[in-house]
Amino acid sequence: MVLEKLGEALKRATNKISKAIFVDKAVIDEVAKDLQRALISADVNVHLVKEITDRIKEKASDEKIKGVEKKEQLIKILYDTILEIIGGEKKELEIKSKGQTVIMLLGLYGAGKTTTAGKLGLYYSKRGKKVALLGLDVHRPAAPDQLEQVAKQSKLAVFIDKKEKDALEIYKNYKAQLEDYDVIIVDTAGRHTLDLDLIKEIKELNKNIKPDYKILVIQADIGQAAKKQASEFQQALEINGVIITRMDSTAKAGGALTACHETKAPVFFIGTGEKPNDLETFNPQSFISRILGMGDLESLLEKVQGAMDTESQKNLKERLE
Ligand code: GDP
Repeated sequence: MVLEKLGEALKRATNKISKAIFVDKAVIDEVAKDLQRALISADVNVHLVKEITDRIKEKASDEKIKGVEKKEQLIKILYDTILEIIGGEKKELEIKSKGQTVIMLLGLYGAGKTTTAGKLGLYYSKRGKKVALLGLDVHRPAAPDQLEQVAKQSKLAVFIDKKEKDALEIYKNYKAQLEDYDVIIVDTAGRHTLDLDLIKEIKELNKNIKPDYKILVIQADIGQAAKKQASEFQQALEINGVIITRMDSTAKAGGALTACHETKAPVFFIGTGEKPNDLETFNPQSFISRILGMGDLESLLEKVQGAMDTESQKNLKERLE
């Protein structure tokens, strides 16, 4: 499971809170310490971890909501704080209802671009869109074959040219045929690092193709180093968002998620396996409920919210009186 260890640690923290007879400073400190360990082992940046736990401690000892058990309040603070660091509200990669949406995938070698092109294609084709994959990675000799394979697996149209070495030429040659499709997913070349040649090549493609989205594909294994990579791509190529792959195969996914959020590049999807179906839209709220393994989290949060409303109503009533 994605972020299993972090989930277990968070569950332990919430259990500790539930079992405590009084939620006093000792309990709050203990929970904060557990959380610190869990976040650091998920590769979240230590400064951010300190900020998070300080915030939790401060809120937990400050806020006084009558009518709600302190325990529930503390669980809510925990939930809200984690939610905030991984992205808050869900962001959607919007596909036009009429006309064509072009999504260009960017990323370094091995990030999972080609695999993700197929997954994303399948995702939209299942939703009734006519999808085509366009292979513009002209540098890695095996790239067109791999994209062809991926397209076949998910029964998607694919446009590749195994001989042409100019990416823009390939696009121009297929431009007319591509007009028949609702969603075009463009697989571009990668490098070991983001170098000037790659920036130049992508800028050139961007100028001509004018994609609706430039999405950086990044692997979760790199943890908090995702921040540097995402901001470099952001600065050089103005990306619109991120897809994080290999969320299933690393304990460092927490670092990658929080790092991307820090760069303000929304995470649209996460890759959770090697198969075509292993792609999920990234919804921070349900993601946390899931890693917390709390089916009843929603009702708990509603209860806290309800009590807060009652409390603020009471305050308002008193003020009015
Ligand atoms: P590219 O060089 O960016 O095109 O990367 P590839 O698409 O070739 O992917 C590199 C490797 O990562 C391949 O072995 C993929 O099967 C694997 N991969 C991609 N996405 C995921 C994922 O979400 N989970 C796992 N476990 N493996 C993935």
